[in-house]
Amino acid sequence: TREIHLAARPNGAPTPDDFALVEVDLPQLGPGQVLLRNLVMSVDPYMRGRMNDVKSYVPPFQLDAVLDGGAIGEVVESHHPSLVPGDVVLHGLGWRDHAITEAARVRKVDPSLGASSYLGALGMPGLTAYVGLLDIAAMKPGDTVFISGAAGAVGSLAGQIAKQRGAARVIGSAGSAAKVERLTGTLGFDAAFNYKDAPVRDQLRTAAPDGIDVYFDNVGGDHLEAAISALNVNGRVALCGAVAQYNATDATPGPRNLALAVGKRLTLRGFIVSDHNGRMGDFLAEMAPWLASGAVRFDETVVEGLENAPSALIGLLNGENTGKMIVRL
Ligand code: NDP
Repeated sequence: TREIHLAARPNGAPTPDDFALVEVDLPQLGPGQVLLRNLVMSVDPYMRGRMNDVKSYVPPFQLDAVLDGGAIGEVVESHHPSLVPGDVVLHGLGWRDHAITEAARVRKVDPSLGASSYLGALGMPGLTAYVGLLDIAAMKPGDTVFISGAAGAVGSLAGQIAKQRGAARVIGSAGSAAKVERLTGTLGFDAAFNYKDAPVRDQLRTAAPDGIDVYFDNVGGDHLEAAISALNVNGRVALCGAVAQYNATDATPGPRNLALAVGKRLTLRGFIVSDHNGRMGDFLAEMAPWLASGAVRFDETVVEGLENAPSALIGLLNGENTGKMIVRL
């Protein structure tokens, strides 16, 4: 079977040479274990951080070893009574065609909802959007909300959840004209702009002349600085990610206007979604009906083949995705 190994640690943006497609033999199935054939796998921005040899909230990938991450697999063989061949499960051993793991470490899913949705709208990115917006940024009906990375997996859901939960105005930023059109034309954002067209600070001021109450930060850098300038008194920021700096080779400067947070009584709060798995039930109870009714839409960008998984991750960091980037195996 085939798997993708980390061949080198990138310096700056990852390149195809940092990955290797390796042929390996599958070990024998042990007691309590299952053999899975992966159907789809996720590539996520946090995986770029795991390519560096630094201590973080998830351990780094090891050189010359297989990568891992969210995936959906079909049970081929089972040594545990809870699973039978044909069952479809969510698990953490992506980046390989086949996986062997303990039955206790996988979660059975309903494939009729679309296997990949458990990696996106009904999975980790969806919960991130929900918790970040409602719990961390404490969005209330009537708020004006600004979301960066708004055409991506987390951002597109955060904006639509904000609308469903009664935000007065939702503004998104993204990196192409087509993405901006998608946000206002289909996903229900009230305004959107391409951050590559002009300074974020100017475009945000035009889109939110009365300021913003909540900022959902996927990007960091000048997006965060512009948001701090635009935030109203008692404004809240969910610090979700800083994708603009994941390929940086030096420490990046913080927002130059952070001192404004004092007079404006701002709250800037970071979070990691896995600390909030207890909210999964509440999240699914709202999100599943929204998706079923079409009130919330979810885009996917699909890359075919394990051999193309490295370019999917590289492309994700370059904005080649609209919605969730996934790899079909
Ligand atoms: P996305 O689907 O949003 O994909 C990443 C996007 O980042 C690209 O599509 C690209 O869109 C954008 N991007 C790349 N470079 C830049 C740049 N220099 N400036 C602005 N935008 C850029 O990924 P996810 O939805 O999976 O993740 C979104 C964010 O949420 C990330 O920061 C991620 O790390 C974070 N996250 C945090 C979690 C947590 O627990 N805190 C959990 C999950 C995700 P464009 O074309 O618009 O540039």
